[in-house]
Amino acid sequence: MIYDNGNIFAQILRGEIPNETVYEDEHVLAFRDLSPARPVHVLVIPRGAFTDASDFATNATESEIAGFWKGVAATAIAVDVRNSGYRLIANTGANGGQEVPHFHVHILGGATVGPMVS
Ligand code: 5GP
Repeated sequence: MIYDNGNIFAQILRGEIPNETVYEDEHVLAFRDLSPARPVHVLVIPRGAFTDASDFATNATESEIAGFWKGVAATAIAVDVRNSGYRLIANTGANGGQEVPHFHVHILGGATVGPMVS
């Protein structure tokens, strides 16, 4: 899949659309989901242009991959779910229900998240 520079998260990264940032560093931007599905619902995205989890794992540098996952862990601390627990979700492609074609991980928490798939 070719990366679409017009996708909503690319616009957020460029500062064209406001977001509620909870954590950021050189590798990631983490912000609250517009339609939270749990009391804590944030999205962590890499700064690089990757369409989905497979694109990221295949084409990102080792530094970008390591930096991304460290950013996810730092975000969990920033939104205070590190100790209470949380769920990571990476919807991928059509059957995975991915709506925004810029790789991202959802962090859900703040309460029991519930069944893995419903
Ligand atoms: P996906 O289904 O691609 O895994 O998740 C995309 C997520 O992005 C959805 O949970 C949706 O609520 C969120 N979202 C879509 N547009 C925006 C936006 O403009 N701002 C923010 N903060 N979240 C958005």
